[in-house]
Amino acid sequence: MLTTTRTDNAYELALENFDAAADVLGLDRDTREMIKYPERVLTVTVPVRMDDGHIHRFEAYRVQHSSVRGPAKGGIRYHPQVSLDEVKALATWMTWKCAVVNIPFGGAKGGVTCDPKHMSHGELERMTRRYTSAILPLIGPERDIPAPDVYTNSQTMAWIMDTYSMTKGYPIPGVVTGKPICLGGSLGRNEATGRGVFYTIQCACDHLHMQLKDATVAVQGFGNAGSIAAQLLHEAGARVIAVSDSTSCVYNRNGLNIPELMHLKALTGKVEGFPESEPITPAELLAMNCDILVPAALENAVHVDNASMVRVKIVAEAANGPLTPAADRILEGNGTFVIPDILCNAGGVTVSYFEWVQDEQHLFWEAQDVYDRLERVMKTAFRDVLKIHMDHKVPMRTAANMLGIGRVAEAVQIRGIYP
Ligand code: NAD
Repeated sequence: MLTTTRTDNAYELALENFDAAADVLGLDRDTREMIKYPERVLTVTVPVRMDDGHIHRFEAYRVQHSSVRGPAKGGIRYHPQVSLDEVKALATWMTWKCAVVNIPFGGAKGGVTCDPKHMSHGELERMTRRYTSAILPLIGPERDIPAPDVYTNSQTMAWIMDTYSMTKGYPIPGVVTGKPICLGGSLGRNEATGRGVFYTIQCACDHLHMQLKDATVAVQGFGNAGSIAAQLLHEAGARVIAVSDSTSCVYNRNGLNIPELMHLKALTGKVEGFPESEPITPAELLAMNCDILVPAALENAVHVDNASMVRVKIVAEAANGPLTPAADRILEGNGTFVIPDILCNAGGVTVSYFEWVQDEQHLFWEAQDVYDRLERVMKTAFRDVLKIHMDHKVPMRTAANMLGIGRVAEAVQIRGIYP
């Protein structure tokens, strides 16, 4: 497996970022105590009968970080590196992210420590259904709404919805988002994260007086978020010159044909061997001499040991937590403009919110409605974060955290707490 990742503890990094923003906001101790830590943490055992007949036990988690502004919301990840601290970090970021785009949700996340690439369809279905039963006391359309994340997809959401609905005796589509359209999914949800990334890159280019047309781009991680962002950038006339997935990196100085690369990835599950490209290393991709870097894989991709190799004008964090705080400081020093994850990739949860609204109302929108509303939400959030960045002279990440944390702090102060 390709790796550029160091094992910094994501949850410690999330707390470090919280403190940096809370300090600039001048947040009092009591408010920090109320909003900083997860409200609920559940660890479960998921026994699954594997295809060869033996039982395998998986460890799994669901963390609700906050329900201050609304039901908790967050994806479910299937990956060998899933740990409780990673899930706590991702749940924490979801809280601030929902507040940055001002949607009425709190933050949550779930994960199963497993290797989905080496599991059959049947094993994945049995594991998903058993995991759903195990977290059943926490989830529901009014309390906690899962969605896809790394190595989960609309099929996973369909199994969760079905398992949950079976226990109630009637269909409850609003328990998950990112569902197939035929089960109450929203048009535009599948491409929402990448589309949101694209809108924020457009805003960053405007701010920096940079042309997106002919700008050069490198994308680390060619899954849902990375491939859609690459496709929209390609359609806008940018040249996506380097792309990687977990097994290889491909490069073409004149620009890769992204629709054809997506076709290859769909057919073979890999970008490897793409015609009219040459292989490069993960380190070369990060060090690529280009205008925009889109890290769209996992956490800690850019860290203290490799950040100084990054030489781009814009880093657009499609992934959650791809830059460590140390990397942030190095890039800040180099004058790199970072679009932080809780702003950059918030398009996914925004359209998840639209999906939940449609499910609750049993009234479904046209794709163009979804795109228009998403564009408004993303561009408003970008403008709000940029204003804090300029007014307070703080990095964009601190500005985004200030906006999100500030909104949650205001909500908790007004609600108060039950004695
Ligand atoms: P995905 O499973 O669709 O794709 C992940 C991609 O990353 C795959 O192509 C995989 O091969 C690649 N990858 C894994 N390890 C890699 C490595 N070391 N180097 C290069 N590539 C590697 O997942 P996704 O949904 O696109 O999620 C990617 C990131 O975006 C995650 O951080 C996720 O939390 C974040 N995100 C996703 C959504 C969403 O709606 N899907 C929303 C917000 C944030």
